Amino acid sequence: MIDKKQLSLAGMLAIFLAVSALAADKLPNVVVLATGGTIAGAAASDVQAAYTSGQVGVEQLLAAVPQAKKLAVMRGEQIANIGSQDMNDEVWLKLARRINELVQMSDVDGIVITHGTDTIEESAYFLNLVVKSKKPVVLTAAMRPSTALSADGPLNFFNAVAVAASKDAAGRGVLVVANDWIHGAASLTKTSTTAVQTFMSPLSGLVGTVAYGKIEYNRQPLGKHTSESEFSVEGVTALPRVDIIMAHENMDGALIDAAVAAGAKGLVIAGVGNGNLTKAAVDALAAQAKKGIVCVRASRVTVGRVERNVELDDDKLGFVASMDKNPQKSRVLLRLALLKNRPLADIQRIFTEY
Ligand code: ASP
Repeated sequence: MIDKKQLSLAGMLAIFLAVSALAADKLPNVVVLATGGTIAGAAASDVQAAYTSGQVGVEQLLAAVPQAKKLAVMRGEQIANIGSQDMNDEVWLKLARRINELVQMSDVDGIVITHGTDTIEESAYFLNLVVKSKKPVVLTAAMRPSTALSADGPLNFFNAVAVAASKDAAGRGVLVVANDWIHGAASLTKTSTTAVQTFMSPLSGLVGTVAYGKIEYNRQPLGKHTSESEFSVEGVTALPRVDIIMAHENMDGALIDAAVAAGAKGLVIAGVGNGNLTKAAVDALAAQAKKGIVCVRASRVTVGRVERNVELDDDKLGFVASMDKNPQKSRVLLRLALLKNRPLADIQRIFTEY
């Protein structure tokens, strides 16, 4: 005979088991923010090189990869639909604000951003510095338009959703997933104009790998990021202008002076070798540094650091060394650093820490 007490215990156990089963089945919620790029591009035929970025909307993108529904419950928002060569501050600020809103929501576990490959390294690094959360934020892209033979977008998207839905991605900063590799936002750079294997993290290596949704993490990304970053775009409506100028044989100071005349508050030199430039350009740069323009020496070489006081006396000339940041990352970091008045030593600290 089962008494009343035993019955209610059995009932409670049944409810507990049902709730646990439901919880185990519950998929993470991933929000997909689409900005355009080749991943949303379309061509007239599947073997044609010419195509237009940003033709496919977010709903079409989601529908094209139904397999990702097994990984997460997804919902999409269209933030922009542009080729990332047209990426701009307005979209950056909109994206950053929306992400910072979404990560506060209890029904959002991770975010995927679809983006063009041309400037993904800049957008990822910008977000890495201004998103205030440990929740996974993952950018993905494609080298081939959605209509191409062997389009790389669908699997990149599937893998990005897998990473955004994975608990272990939390706290690793903003990540970029492409061609089975997981890059940290600070380390990746685009290295090929056309190859699918375009992204590399030359100095520090990969954060991890992801193959058909199976993830292996190798390490934490280098540099401060997201929840521990001191930068914020809260209330920011405009970012200071910083220009990149590439060094070369026979360089003079004309472009350095022109950039400042155009309103640049900071300059990044994509120097030759270890951030070097001609004597004439050094003189022009030092003159601008003296006037308060923040001048960062980076390198046009893809691999390697630019340290202080190697062939140039940064202490005397008033320059900042980019350390492990390439020119485009240096520009992003300097724009955020210049939101506040800071002594040069503080800007150098920032280039060392982030
Ligand atoms: N121009 C394109 C873009 O960056 C290239 C790509 O996505 O691969 O939007």
